[in-house]
Amino acid sequence: MTHNFDTVIIGSGLAGLRAAIEAAKHGTVAVLTKLYPTRSHSTAAQGGIAAALGNEEPDSPEWHFYDTAKGSDFLGDQAAIEVMCEDAIRTVIELEHMGVPFSRTPEGKIAQRRFGGHTRDFGAAAVRRACYSADRTGHAILFALYEQSGLQGVKFFDEFHVLDIAVEEGGCGGVIALEIKTGEIHMFSAKATLVASGGYGRVYKTTSNAIASTGDCLGILFRTGVPLQDMEFFQFHPTGLYGLGILVTEGARGEGGILVNREGERFMERYAPTIKDLAPRDMVSRAIMTEVREGRGIDGRDFVHLDLRGIKRGILEERLPEITTFCKIYMGLDPALAPIPVLPTAHYAMGGIPTDIDGRVFKDEKGGVVEGLFAAGECACVSVHGANRLGCNSLLDTVVFGRRAGMEIGRFLKSAEPGGIGGDLARRTVEGHASMQGRSGTEKAPEIRSELQKRMTDECSVFRHREDLEKLVAEIRALERRAAGIGIKDAGKRFNTEVLEAIELSHLLALSEVIALSALRREESRGAHSREDFPKRDDVNWLKHTLAFRTEKGIELRHKPVSITKFKPVERKY
Ligand SMILES: Cc1cc2nc3c(=O)[nH]c(=O)nc-3n(C[C@H](O)[C@H](O)[C@H](O)COP(=O)(O)OP(=O)(O)OC[C@H]3O[C@@H](n4cnc5c(N)ncnc54)[C@H](O)[C@@H]3O)c2cc1C
Repeated sequence: MTHNFDTVIIGSGLAGLRAAIEAAKHGTVAVLTKLYPTRSHSTAAQGGIAAALGNEEPDSPEWHFYDTAKGSDFLGDQAAIEVMCEDAIRTVIELEHMGVPFSRTPEGKIAQRRFGGHTRDFGAAAVRRACYSADRTGHAILFALYEQSGLQGVKFFDEFHVLDIAVEEGGCGGVIALEIKTGEIHMFSAKATLVASGGYGRVYKTTSNAIASTGDCLGILFRTGVPLQDMEFFQFHPTGLYGLGILVTEGARGEGGILVNREGERFMERYAPTIKDLAPRDMVSRAIMTEVREGRGIDGRDFVHLDLRGIKRGILEERLPEITTFCKIYMGLDPALAPIPVLPTAHYAMGGIPTDIDGRVFKDEKGGVVEGLFAAGECACVSVHGANRLGCNSLLDTVVFGRRAGMEIGRFLKSAEPGGIGGDLARRTVEGHASMQGRSGTEKAPEIRSELQKRMTDECSVFRHREDLEKLVAEIRALERRAAGIGIKDAGKRFNTEVLEAIELSHLLALSEVIALSALRREESRGAHSREDFPKRDDVNWLKHTLAFRTEKGIELRHKPVSITKFKPVERKY
C-alpha cells in the first residue's frame, strides 16, 4: 500500500510528538511507531525536566548552560546548549499549558528538585532545577503531547515497524514500513522525514531501556551512508536495581538519598566534596565501580546501597511513589525501611545522528545536509550532551529540538519537491524482507543478542581498555557472521516477531561495532568514556567529535570540531 504525506515522523516518543504538533501546522503528518504510541520509552522517564524557573530558589539559564557544558566534559556544542537552556523556561510553561500535571509547591508553582550536576553560581552548590510530576514525568508529558497531536489531526500508524528510509541521491523521499499485524509492507512518500526513534540501550545486558530501544533507524541510516556521531559515549546511570538494571531516578538522591559502601561510608564525599551524591552520572558510576573493585561493595559483593531512609515516608509517597513500588515488587523491600542494592545500568546514548539545531541531518563532517531528512530526540546528536548528559536534560532536549525540527520542516515544506521512494529500493526492501521469512539456518537471534549484550557489558561499559576493545571488535564481527545463519521458523506474516527480532539484532550488531571502534580510537578519558590505558582528558588531541561512516572498505572514522563559545574547558571538579 502507498501513502502520501507532507511529513512522516518515525517515533511517538516526546521528540516525535512535539515535532508532529508543530509540523501539523504546515501540512499533513503521519507518525509511525513500532509500538502503541504511549508505550514509547519516554513514558518511563521518572525524575524530571530541567528548566531554570527559579521557583524554589534563585536560578538562571546561564548557570544551566554552564552546568550542561561542564557536565558534557566540554564536548557538548555550546551554541546548541545555549539554545536549549535559554528555551527551557518557555518550554516547561508551554508543556504546562498543554496540560502536563506538574507537581506543585505549596503556593501552587511548578515544584522543582535537585538533580545531578545542576548547580547555582557556576558550581557553588546543588540547585532545584528539575520540574517533575512525582516520578512519572515522562508519562505525564507523553500523554499530554499525544492528546495534543490528536487534536492537530496527526495520523498515527501504530505498530508499523520501519524497515527502510529512502535516502537516495542526497535527499530523503520517505519511509518503508511493515504493518506488524498483517505483515503487509507500506510505502510512505513524504517531502520531509523526521527520525525520532529513541535510544539503543539494548546493546547492553543490564539496561534501564525498554525492549524496543534497539536503534533501528540509526542502523538503517548508517547503512545508507549517513554518519553516526560520538557513539563511544554511552551513559551508565549509577543507580540501577541490582541484577535487573531497572532505574531508580536520580531524583531519589535529589530528595536526600545517599550512596553508602560496606563500611557504611557515604563515599561520594571523597569523589565530589561539594555536591557529593549529586555529582554527574559518569563520576558517580565510576565511583561505585571503584568501590566495588576495591572490595567495598556491600558484603564484598558487586553492589552498593542507595539509602533513602533519611527521606520522610510522606515525601517518598508523594514524590517517589513509582520507585517505591518498584523496590517492593522487584526487590521485596520497602525503601523507607531498608537500603536498596544498586549498580550502574546502561541508560542513555549521547551519540547518534548528527544534526544542526533545527534538526537537519548532516551527511558529512563539513556541514552538508541530507535534503528532506531531520532527526530529534535521543537518536539525534545535536550535540547538547557531549561526553556525558546531565539528568533531566534529555526530556528537555526532546521537546526543545523536536519543536525546532517541526518548525524547520514548516519552512522546508514551502519549497520542497514531492517525496517518493525509488523503485529499486522498494523492490529490494520487499524482496529482502520476503527472503528473511523463508530463511533456513541453525542460528537463533535471541542467542546471538544475549552473547552480544554480555560482550558489550564486559568489554565496553564504565571502564574501557584497548585490549578489551580490540577483542570486542573481533567478537562482534564473528557474531555478525553468525547472524547471517539465523533461521526463521515462523513462516506466518501476522505478528512475525521472530523476523522483527532478527532485524533488530542486525541493527544492534552494527551499532555495537561503531561504539567499539569509536571507543577504541578515542585515546583519552572524557565524560562517560573512561579509558584505563589513557586515564586523562586530552584537549590537545581529542577535543573533537567522532563521526563514523560506513564505506565499502569498512567503517571509517573522521572528526569535526566542538563549538566552544563561552566556557573554556577546565578541569572538572565538583
Ligand atoms: C527509565 C528511564 C528513565 C528516564 N528518566 C529521565 C528523566 O527523568 N529525565 C530526562 O530528561 N530523561 C530521562 N530519560 C531519558 C529520556 O526519557 C529519553 O532519552 C527520551 O524520552 C527519548 O525520547 P525520544 O522521543 O527520543 O524516543 P522514545 O521515547 O524512546 O521513542 C522512540 C520511538 O521510536 C519508535 N521506533 C523505534 N524504532 C522504530 C522502528 N523501526 N519503526 C517504527 N518506530 C520505531 C518507537 O516505537 C517509539 O515510539 C530516562 C530514560 C529511561 C530509559
